[in-house]
Amino acid sequence: MSEKRFDGQVAVITGAGRGLGKAYALLLGAKGAKVVVNDLGGSLQGDGVDVGPAQEVVNEIIAAGGEAIANTDSVATPEGGQAIINAAINTWGRIDILIHNAGNVRPALIRDMSYEDFNSVLDVHLKGAFHVVKPAMPLMCDAGYGRIVLTSSIGGLYGNHKVVNYGVSKAGMIGLCNVAALEGAEHNVTCNLIVPGAVTRMAEGIDVSAYPPMGPELVAPVVGWLSHESCSVSGEMFVSIAGRVAKAFIGETEGVYQPEWTIDDVETQLEKIGDTTNPWILPVVPAAHVDHIRNSFAMAVKGSKS
Ligand code: NAD
Repeated sequence: MSEKRFDGQVAVITGAGRGLGKAYALLLGAKGAKVVVNDLGGSLQGDGVDVGPAQEVVNEIIAAGGEAIANTDSVATPEGGQAIINAAINTWGRIDILIHNAGNVRPALIRDMSYEDFNSVLDVHLKGAFHVVKPAMPLMCDAGYGRIVLTSSIGGLYGNHKVVNYGVSKAGMIGLCNVAALEGAEHNVTCNLIVPGAVTRMAEGIDVSAYPPMGPELVAPVVGWLSHESCSVSGEMFVSIAGRVAKAFIGETEGVYQPEWTIDDVETQLEKIGDTTNPWILPVVPAAHVDHIRNSFAMAVKGSKS
């Protein structure tokens, strides 16, 4: 089987100085991509700037025979996002791959969460994604090619305690990914989500001694495929944790049609409303939102005739 490579392609990876982003950068760099290794290099909370982590990853890629440049602009502002994309264009004149992976954490209960900490996490994760996707999209669409990978989390799919800022950001990423996938479809630009699990500095304070092997390098090949020209999906969510690769999806129960409803009817029909026997799992691309409406209307038409 042929080895999948990225020769001649340019990849921008945010937060690539450490952890998961570093593993993605080393993999793509080793397989021929020219890589913009973006990382602010600050603390887990997102404070401070240090070129060290990004430069070390660049040095590793170059030592292995690859090409890379370091960039310390912050994804947290529109200017920073534009500067990160500009780094690719100014150096190599193109951008084929965008992986938004940068992240910070500032945990607190909802009741204790300061607006500063709420906004800081949204700025890096969710608005950060928009700050790089917005300048990258027109370049990719005009070129007729692009691969975008955004980063969600089980914190976004399922929530967790003390991470409302993070959960909101990671759930919002699904919305951004879906729209980018739809808008990119006719231009051969895909956008997918990775829902990773790996022991990195984000696990600080957690006892990981009983965990199975779950280094970032186990996640990197999944992001590698989503970044490759052979990636045949868009608007999808891939899970990768401790060697398990799976898909997550939005699903609906088939539900119940009635021409009229009372509050009591909802309670009476609760079991049927929640019956997962025939789920609707609608592909985002080409048009899950249309399928949702069309299928719902079809039930109404069928129900009103019976
Ligand atoms: P990490 O802290 O090792 O790496 C994140 C990197 O992002 C850091 O090097 C940091 O300096 C950089 N960064 C932070 N703010 C930035 C900014 N404003 N601009 C540019 N870079 C910035 O963490 P990680 O575990 O490798 O996390 C990577 C991504 O994966 C994050 O989005 C995280 O939410 C997500 N994630 C991780 C896990 C996990 O199990 N590790 C689980 C779910 C989601």
